[in-house]
Amino acid sequence: MSQRGPRQSVEMAAARTLILDEIQPLGAENQALRGAVGRVLAEELRASRSIPPLDNSAMDGFAVRAEDIATVPVTLRVVEDLPAGRWTDRKIGPGEAARIMTGAAIPDGADTVVMIEDTEPTTTQVRVNRSLPFGANIRRAGSDVSPGALVATAGTLINPSLVGMIAALGRTSVSVISRPRVAVLATGDELVEPDQLEDDGRIVTSNSYTLCATLERMGIEPIYLGIAKDEPEIIRDAFLRGLRADVVVSTGGVSVGDRDWIKQVLADLGGELRLWRVKMKPGAPLAFVTIDGRPVFGLPGNPVSSLVTFEQFVRPALLKMMGHRALYRPVEPVVLDDVYDKPTGRMHFVRVMLDRQPDGLHARLTGDQSSGVLLSMVQADGLAIVSAETTHLPAGTTVPVQILSREDLCDDPGFN
Ligand code: AMP
Ligand code: MG
Repeated sequence: MSQRGPRQSVEMAAARTLILDEIQPLGAENQALRGAVGRVLAEELRASRSIPPLDNSAMDGFAVRAEDIATVPVTLRVVEDLPAGRWTDRKIGPGEAARIMTGAAIPDGADTVVMIEDTEPTTTQVRVNRSLPFGANIRRAGSDVSPGALVATAGTLINPSLVGMIAALGRTSVSVISRPRVAVLATGDELVEPDQLEDDGRIVTSNSYTLCATLERMGIEPIYLGIAKDEPEIIRDAFLRGLRADVVVSTGGVSVGDRDWIKQVLADLGGELRLWRVKMKPGAPLAFVTIDGRPVFGLPGNPVSSLVTFEQFVRPALLKMMGHRALYRPVEPVVLDDVYDKPTGRMHFVRVMLDRQPDGLHARLTGDQSSGVLLSMVQADGLAIVSAETTHLPAGTTVPVQILSREDLCDDPGFN
């Protein structure tokens, strides 16, 4: 059996482009308003009605005729009491006023609202102490939106205010881009689930938990396939289950070790190996395979490598599937307060803690940077990006840092 596809190591930016070019947004589905926040709108939204539906009061006070209060003080007869939600057919005539609360519809005849602070009311009368121009303190029908007004275009990321607006238009659901079903698979004879941990040298499949948690954070409910032993048939069965989902993400078994079966199994399943090695650290061996158009990410097993490669490749790909146009974490210039040395050849993603100081953001390394040290990732606020060619960064160098502690998204990856 041959493993088709590239064996060459690819630059970081080229790998990202290669992957994203293979990924297409999913179709649309109907989504109830509860749960719509954070999704991407799949329809153009236009107002179907006026909001507010009627002219209404912007203040608690008295609805009057502006001409009646041209000269103040003046005393008017109170002929109606209009709390919000109550309206009347009684027309307000000369010398008359209606007691009115914020949001109540303005009765016919009245054209202006005097706020309560500018009046001295009794039960049947009100003395108005302030003259106001025609139309003061009235919110006009349709002043928020009127029928046909463009509320949001397809492709908009739905925020809580937009959920409120859709509800205000009288809708209970909205068309959004679907979320991918993502299967997560751990591979390795040395792995156990946390509740099976014993003192026999085996380790917990922490990657399963970090990856599922990352998906949950993205609003994707992971389909967890558990641990597959390093046996081709077992891995094959697991992938076959996974391929019922839209995307499969596996960890481990993707290197060149004797029992690294992932690439071979995926090739046997008809997969096209699009990408294998990327010139990055941590990360390096990373298989990107498509099977019948379905993306499979074979991430490395080392805990930091799997998370960093997920961040660089899988997260933007999943966001693209969900219809997002902005796919990337923000990258900001940060002063690195530590020295950093490396050989040439690979781009490094260095775990850093951030500290906002008067002159801007500063970063310090989170200690041991080896790709097995999960604590370095636990403590990291961001990943400092050090180009492949760089060999030495003196303390005080400004470097781009991908901010992991922020969920907002950018159009641009921020580094190449
Ligand atoms: P591999 O890529 O399979 O060669 O694994 C590389 C390293 O990552 C080994 O030390 C594994 O024990 C470790 N590793 C592999 N899979 C996991 C996992 N699911 N959770 C935590 N560590 C893992
Ligand atoms: Mg392994």
